[in-house]
Amino acid sequence: MNKVLVIGCGGVAGVAIQKCAQNADVFNEICIASRTVSKCDALKQKLEGKTKAKITTAQVDADSVDQLVALINEVKPDIVLNLALPYQDLTIMEACLKTKVDYVDTANYECEDTNDPEWRAIYEKRCKEKGFTAYFDYSWQWAYRERFEKAGITALLGTGFDPGVTSVFTAYAQKHYFDEIHTIDILDCNGGDHGYPFATNFNPEINLREVSANGSYWENGHWVETKPMEIHRTYNFDGVGEKDMYLLHHEEIESLAQNIPHVKRIRFFMTFGQSYLTHMKCLENVGMLGTEPVEFEGNQIVPIQFLRRLLPDPASLGPRTVGKTNIGCIFTGVKDGKERTLYIYNVCDHQECYKEVGSQAISYTTGVPAMIGTMMVLKGLWKRPGVFTVEEFDPDPYMEALNKWGLPWQVDENPVLVD
Ligand code: NDP
Repeated sequence: MNKVLVIGCGGVAGVAIQKCAQNADVFNEICIASRTVSKCDALKQKLEGKTKAKITTAQVDADSVDQLVALINEVKPDIVLNLALPYQDLTIMEACLKTKVDYVDTANYECEDTNDPEWRAIYEKRCKEKGFTAYFDYSWQWAYRERFEKAGITALLGTGFDPGVTSVFTAYAQKHYFDEIHTIDILDCNGGDHGYPFATNFNPEINLREVSANGSYWENGHWVETKPMEIHRTYNFDGVGEKDMYLLHHEEIESLAQNIPHVKRIRFFMTFGQSYLTHMKCLENVGMLGTEPVEFEGNQIVPIQFLRRLLPDPASLGPRTVGKTNIGCIFTGVKDGKERTLYIYNVCDHQECYKEVGSQAISYTTGVPAMIGTMMVLKGLWKRPGVFTVEEFDPDPYMEALNKWGLPWQVDENPVLVD
């Protein structure tokens, strides 16, 4: 009997839990836990009668290691799937270590309070040493490698779409198509339209922090940092059409640079419409993206958290969003002494996702791989003591599962390259 404890019941968790419930032969029991147990109960109710899996709910504040340990000891899961926020990664990993339970997540650790002096000192040292200023990096979670190894448990980091599937695409390209991969361009295109003047497709705080930060890419063994949105290209995406895209820093660049031998350049591009960028710039200019508390009528308010209250809940975008996403990787390199190029990508339709699970494609393209990564560890296919990112395992069973569970991929051996 396999039991998964899912922390979080937001947009991504909603999809991942429904997918686990569809896959009840692997996920026999699912416990859903977050701070607001009523949301977990609502999801449980939605699934009742539709799955063989036994579903339970619980309340937990995942900022507290003690509460997590108590919950894990009570539920006794085989694996914990962390779909709360990146702020909770370390507390949940710590609790998994204490209870010797495998750990899975979709986003790397970020510190909620970037003014914490202890965190800031480490961050500033890292900025100087590594050459990029993003608030998130893998060092915090890679620091757990030895302890996870010694405890004999697995941590699988970043099994969403990007990071996640894009890194599995890379491992697959390396295994089946290349002797050496020289360049990787990860292209994340959302051609969806939700009809609101401004909304984010996943947690607004995490999303806006990511896109308002400096960009960066990996080239010839070091990081090159750019101003936000400095590098701009257009690309004609299958299923979507021509879109503007901008270079961002993204976490999988860091792990792929370590794990893909011979790679010379890795870049990440995301599409944004002009209206989104104008709104974001305006919010930034007036201070609404600030992460430091400000005093307002006697109360301490964090501007970006207040903004989150005002923006549409990403989970509510499902019924309104039409169009498709196209996310994938373009590779160049050599095979048998000859140069070759390759594009592996998935096209996902917002309304199809909504019909199946009641969510838009951004939550869907993250929630499905979260279920698949958890299944890889539960089935023992990707189970090894230590802390790993997805490209460190055999990509074949994961690629097969993507086709089976709703994210079929395509291969183009003659793609248009990004200059
Ligand atoms: P939401 O904001 O919709 O959901 C977050 C969930 O976390 C909520 O259910 C919330 O429930 C729970 N949560 C927050 N704080 C705590 C806490 N202290 N204790 C317990 N639960 C908590 O976020 P999304 O579903 O959009 O995103 C989930 C994760 O997926 C994020 O880490 C995000 O970065 C990642 N992601 C990854 C992508 C990828 O491709 N790799 C793409 C998109 C997202 P409650 O308030 O009840 O506690």
